[in-house]
Amino acid sequence: MEKRVRVRFAPSPTGGLHMGGVRTALFNYLFAKRHGGDFILRIEDTDQTRFVEGAEEYIVSALKWCGIEPNEGVGFGDGPHKPYRQSERKELGIYKKYADKLIASGHAYYAFDTSEELDAMRKRLEAAKMVSPQYNAVTRQNMRNSLTLPEDEVKKLLESGEKYVVRLKVPRNEEIRFNDIIRGWVTVNSAQVDDKVLLKSDGMPTYHLAHIVDDIEMEISHAVRGEEWLPSAPAHILIYKYLGLENEMPKLAHLPLILNPDGNGKISKREARFPVFPLSWKDPREATPYIGYKESGYYPEAFVNVLALLGWNPGNNEELFTVEELSKIFEFERVHKSGAKFDPEKAKWFNQQYLRKKSDEELSEAFKPILKEKGFERDAAFMIEFCKLVKEKVQFVHEFWDHGKYIFIAPDAYDEKVMTKKWNPQNKELVTKALDCFKGITDWKTQVIHDTFEALVKEVGKIDMQLLRVLITGVAGGPQLFDMLALMGKDEVINRMNTALSKL
Ligand code: GLU
Repeated sequence: MEKRVRVRFAPSPTGGLHMGGVRTALFNYLFAKRHGGDFILRIEDTDQTRFVEGAEEYIVSALKWCGIEPNEGVGFGDGPHKPYRQSERKELGIYKKYADKLIASGHAYYAFDTSEELDAMRKRLEAAKMVSPQYNAVTRQNMRNSLTLPEDEVKKLLESGEKYVVRLKVPRNEEIRFNDIIRGWVTVNSAQVDDKVLLKSDGMPTYHLAHIVDDIEMEISHAVRGEEWLPSAPAHILIYKYLGLENEMPKLAHLPLILNPDGNGKISKREARFPVFPLSWKDPREATPYIGYKESGYYPEAFVNVLALLGWNPGNNEELFTVEELSKIFEFERVHKSGAKFDPEKAKWFNQQYLRKKSDEELSEAFKPILKEKGFERDAAFMIEFCKLVKEKVQFVHEFWDHGKYIFIAPDAYDEKVMTKKWNPQNKELVTKALDCFKGITDWKTQVIHDTFEALVKEVGKIDMQLLRVLITGVAGGPQLFDMLALMGKDEVINRMNTALSKL
């Protein structure tokens, strides 16, 4: 029988969760939804030296903002497999049992080497030109461990409280094969695999042991994680095998890297061209905070849509998907093996598409506080009309200001190109006529302004609308002229034209 789909996102609280991590969470979430399964958030905090204050809370808030909510786990409610923090699970003795089992069956051993001894080993191997100096089937023979020391000495050392780690006993030359849902069959010779530490000297399990124990105990069906874990997978396969858990082992899926826009490396958190974190993140170890997608004005729906297409495609040219839609079609079969290049301009385009789906009411509500900050307030009808007119131009709500500020502020300069080309006595006279005829309008509405203007044109000949626009706003482009004039109000338009005509 196929196992119930249960997947997990298992970040370590070692810093803010960046977009690569969010994509891993997203793919897990979508897969769980698609198969009516469970999505779990497990916090892998066994490395106390890398623990960062605030990181766990950040992870939970980021997932909430993105709308990728686990149905079980830290910050999202307990299920039958609590606790979901590895440090708490360690206190329950969950991991030690498994390490003991591996020792008892001869697949793991105690190693007593001090850090000086390990350093010396590394130096020896480097001097002998070993490519990757590691603790393995060959080198362990010269080290202080329960495979080289006499049994009674090992016993004595353990009883005397000597510090030790537990290491996996990797065979010298054995083929390890496993199937990755995205990459297919992978074969690695065990000579490439080191004797990984499973239990550290502080009694904490390492990631390698802890995630296996938890994936088994939490009945995880698929372990979906970043490509950086692929090199460790052969060791994990051995651990499952030595624990007799090969049949219960989750299926593996290693997701491709997200590459920077130049395609020459992984996205770095120090990237200056675009945000890397979903929410702004202040790392307590660093002076400068990182700005998030949220604070840069992205909608979570747009951000998630962008992430979904980094390494996955729907098999056609469609690009706009809600999480709901994605969760009906997402499959690992369509996840690529190779790295996915991130395109920041395309990300902005996505935001624009979601912005266009918002109602003018919603947009005006969102723009109101920004406008207030700039020192302006307008009633709801004005705001709604303003958003309707300027909407086409903007990718983010804050850009309503950049693209429409001239509606609130009278110009102190006039587009040079247009003025050089079009400002002459004849046009000045025509504009003056337009001003006079605007003054006579009593019902200041788009259609009325339009009709009055057209009637004037019939009488006096073509009046340059672009020039008119520049005299009123200072800029050469913008929304439909008469709509804009109607919105600005008669007094404002007349005042601005008067100013222009007297100044120029
Ligand atoms: N704690 C690991 C990480 O932060 C999890 C890897 C996994 O999902 O197995 O990347």
